[in-house]
Amino acid sequence: MKKKTLEDIQVNGKKVLVRVDFNVPVQDGKITDDNRIIQALPTIKFLLEENAKVILLSHLGRIKKQEDLQKNSLKVVSERLSELLGKPVKFINETRGQKLEDTINNMKEQDIVMMENTRFEDLDGKKESKNDSDLGEYWASLGDVFVNDAFGTAHREHASNVGISSRLETAAGFLMEKEIRYIGSTVESPERPFVAILGGAKVSDKIGVIENLLNIADKVLIGGGMAYTFMKAQGYNIGNSIVEMDKVDLAKHLLEQAKGKIILPVDFAVTKEFSADAPYRYTDYKSIKEDEEGLDIGPKTIKLFKKELKGAKTVVWNGPVGVFEFENYAKGTKAICEILANLENTRTIIGGGDSAAAAIQMGFKERFTHISTGGGASLQFLEGKELPGIESIDDSVDCGCEGSDCEC
Ligand code: AMP
Repeated sequence: MKKKTLEDIQVNGKKVLVRVDFNVPVQDGKITDDNRIIQALPTIKFLLEENAKVILLSHLGRIKKQEDLQKNSLKVVSERLSELLGKPVKFINETRGQKLEDTINNMKEQDIVMMENTRFEDLDGKKESKNDSDLGEYWASLGDVFVNDAFGTAHREHASNVGISSRLETAAGFLMEKEIRYIGSTVESPERPFVAILGGAKVSDKIGVIENLLNIADKVLIGGGMAYTFMKAQGYNIGNSIVEMDKVDLAKHLLEQAKGKIILPVDFAVTKEFSADAPYRYTDYKSIKEDEEGLDIGPKTIKLFKKELKGAKTVVWNGPVGVFEFENYAKGTKAICEILANLENTRTIIGGGDSAAAAIQMGFKERFTHISTGGGASLQFLEGKELPGIESIDDSVDCGCEGSDCEC
């Protein structure tokens, strides 16, 4: 790895600022999914075992007006973290000030302090989100060393990531390291054959991803809502299926440029009504009727995709291949999960967002090499963009090896 990791820094007895992504869903004051907290535990536990003083920073939701403050307080998260760790987590209800400074200065080794939501600083001039230089400097002054473990915000240049890392020695936490190792190095130098699967609602959301993956993948399988824009580009009737007319020319261009790399569905589950229980049928790609819309790939497509995936050494998947929220149209997405889960000697990576949610919901959480924790961040990573949150982590001493096999 080209970036410093926890193994590369000295933390014993030091005040370690840790940017985590605790942006968890909270309803009526209760956390409804604590996965992001659980994902941060390895880094926090490691730092505690190494006798660090751990100071946690995270955002939660968006802060635009005064009323947003109370419902987005991190207090509830500090309580859940404390339960998960089995030890007290001292919560300070401010993002700067005497109380925070005194608490940090009085910390002992293995203590944990969590400060209030970093985005509380957005109320008055978006200081966090605009990477206000005084704020970054202030937060950096509170610690001796910085660990960035918040991949979910790596595509943003905020005071609590870039603002601190530009002023303190910075290493990637374990979660960030995993994301860099799996997504970053796969996009840089994948083991081949490399097959990408792209789905989701729209072409427009993923133009950058399609273009980048077309350059580096050996095959790009397209499903989901975006497939119909490609079908339209080839002149087929798609009935009422979701389509972006202003992207049909782009789809034509991509198909030409791809020179056979793009594999489109050959059959679909179609229905006259977008609902969970309306009747549906499977049909060939040439036989969608005027009053029908496609909501999933069909069995022949599943077979075709399975054939294309056989023997792949690397698979990256982003976007469900159907409306997986309805059971009738979750079959394609589930079949993709099953095919990937049963590939042997293949690095299988899900690039965040809805396909990650679908795979977890369908019970495949442990059966992929890596499921990314970032939505927007993993999309931008797959586009081949440099992410400011990662770029600002210190480079490690050059290990001399490169690519996905690099274990340094
Ligand atoms: P994305 O966030 O771009 O990955 O899109 C995910 C959404 O795409 C999910 O909510 C799916 O229900 C939706 N989707 C997938 N296939 C279709 C389709 N054939 N028609 C409409 N929406 C779809």
